Amino acid sequence: MSNIIQLLPDHVANQIAAGEVVQRPASVVKELMENAVDANATIVSLIIKEGGKTLIQVVDNGLGMSDTDARLSFERHATSKIKAAEDLFHLHTKGFRGEALASIAAVSHVDMKTKTEVEEVGTHLMVEGSHITQQEPCVTPIGTSISVKNLFFNIPARRNFLKSASVEHKHVIDEFQRVALVHPSVAFKFIHNDSELFNLPAANFRHRIVGVMGSKMNEKLVPVKEETDLIQLYGFVGKPEFAKKSRGEQFFFVNDRFIKHPYLHHAVSSAFEGLLKERAYPSYFLYLQVNPESIDINIHPTKTEVKFDNEHAIYSILRSSVKHSLGQFNVSPVLDFNKDASMETGYDQHKFGAKIPSVVVDRNFNPFEAEYKFSSTFKLPSSKRNTSNPSWEALYTNLEGQDDDLLNIEVDSEQVSGSLFQGEHTHHKSSGTFQFQRKYIITSTKSEMLIIDQHRAHFRILYEELLRNITAKPALSQQLLFPLKLQLDTNEISVFKTLKESLTNAGFSISELGEDFVKINGIPNRLPESETSILLDQLLSDFESDIPDSGFDQTDRLAKSLAQSMAIKNGAVLHKEEQTELVNLLFSCKEPMLTPLNRLVFVKQSASDFDKKFM
Ligand code: ADP
Ligand code: MG
Repeated sequence: MSNIIQLLPDHVANQIAAGEVVQRPASVVKELMENAVDANATIVSLIIKEGGKTLIQVVDNGLGMSDTDARLSFERHATSKIKAAEDLFHLHTKGFRGEALASIAAVSHVDMKTKTEVEEVGTHLMVEGSHITQQEPCVTPIGTSISVKNLFFNIPARRNFLKSASVEHKHVIDEFQRVALVHPSVAFKFIHNDSELFNLPAANFRHRIVGVMGSKMNEKLVPVKEETDLIQLYGFVGKPEFAKKSRGEQFFFVNDRFIKHPYLHHAVSSAFEGLLKERAYPSYFLYLQVNPESIDINIHPTKTEVKFDNEHAIYSILRSSVKHSLGQFNVSPVLDFNKDASMETGYDQHKFGAKIPSVVVDRNFNPFEAEYKFSSTFKLPSSKRNTSNPSWEALYTNLEGQDDDLLNIEVDSEQVSGSLFQGEHTHHKSSGTFQFQRKYIITSTKSEMLIIDQHRAHFRILYEELLRNITAKPALSQQLLFPLKLQLDTNEISVFKTLKESLTNAGFSISELGEDFVKINGIPNRLPESETSILLDQLLSDFESDIPDSGFDQTDRLAKSLAQSMAIKNGAVLHKEEQTELVNLLFSCKEPMLTPLNRLVFVKQSASDFDKKFM
């Protein structure tokens, strides 16, 4: 048999490598910006069009390249940054693999102009899908300008895989911010579709963070600093009262690289323990310097994970430094181990003096009244009953009851869906319910016991209700007496712009969308007005990492996000009436079994399961 193994031609090998290095326009942005920083540039400009799908250009005033180097830079494994494997352990540059330019050029049209300080003229080079199509001298300033056009022009499948321009744009902003945050001494500009998004002069860390995240950030920062043999830690954490509903403002940089590290993240979060509201995430911008030999540097080009030798020690240092800073800047209670824990008050209380715990009491609640209506603060729709009030005993009678099965819990769904908007409905049978641990509603059928997660059940109910509202054209909307003005950062504004149509369809009426704020004068029906800004905050952060392209998917995600934030929380005490209502509404849903995020809403235990236990 003849030999069948062949070496792949370079352009094919490059294309395969590109599959790893270049996933989307943002990956190109990262590589080009890092190359500019590695070339000691002091001013770097990023210019993109349509989220980078048609153009990504990075212009720097760095070292530039000779004509030979310019050509070589597009070869695979061609790098000026390391010469031997040992160099990996004292790396001072971002790049070292020599893969980026080769990969980018394999899947796009690249146009490069570059000139070094010592040369009279520069070099102009054009590469299309790994083939150099032009190389000639040119007049150009010292430094390098690379533009990348028509990304994935030769791989239609990947091109089609790209998301909408606004989603890609969002990813580009993320990469830009990561590079800009860690190199405050370099000036950065970012121009998207001919408008300037960022203009960041050379600055210190604090100014840079404020420049990138917006001027609101300045008052929120608490400095953190610690030096040990193991690490040098520097940076800022956000004051707990400003904690966001999103994780968007959490940055770790290790040896000048952005990394994600769940374990170290936990160290920081746990330093905030007891200081944050539910579902609030602290902001942090933490710069760690460690001995390069103590981390695994062979980082995958697109991965942001890093492995430390001394993870546990770093965890403790991080946690105690952040705790210390929060204490020192008077934002957390002073630690005093001899103090009676029951006497402790949170820092919030220190500021405002003693405050009566807020318990929402429904003054209209009358357990003896059959026609009790739920208060609007509790978000189950109000209902009208024609059954007598279920009682504790009912639970036990129902356990014995022979006529009570799942079908009996189910209410005529026509009736109920209508009622969701009219706020009134009747149901024919209420079964015994019981709240356990302020979290589960327990009810039964003829042969089974159902244990329902109250939050998840309500999530499902609200989701279906919202979807119905949104698809009822025009969506039911309520006018606000006073328009709501929300201050947003660049990221949030871009998410908002993308979602504008879906939000309008959902019943939001947006009267003004400025550079860093939005004004809203109408909200979807039944959305609690007082919580609108919190809900929107959560909504934006849910969409921040990934915005679906199609209007349909956006609507669906919108309904999910709103329903999840509005759903009653675990820990909330539910009156008997509310428990029954929840169960009834749940079983009139189209898909009562699962939450919109596909988690189980309830579990069942059959009588025979119990019988076995009692054998
Ligand atoms: P790496 O950064 O891993 O070395 P790249 O493919 O990104 O690999 O770049 C290859 C080489 O091209 C770099 O090592 C560097 O010498 C040169 N180079 C790339 N971009 C620039 C730039 N903006 N300015 C100067 N030299 C550059
Ligand atoms: Mg590089």
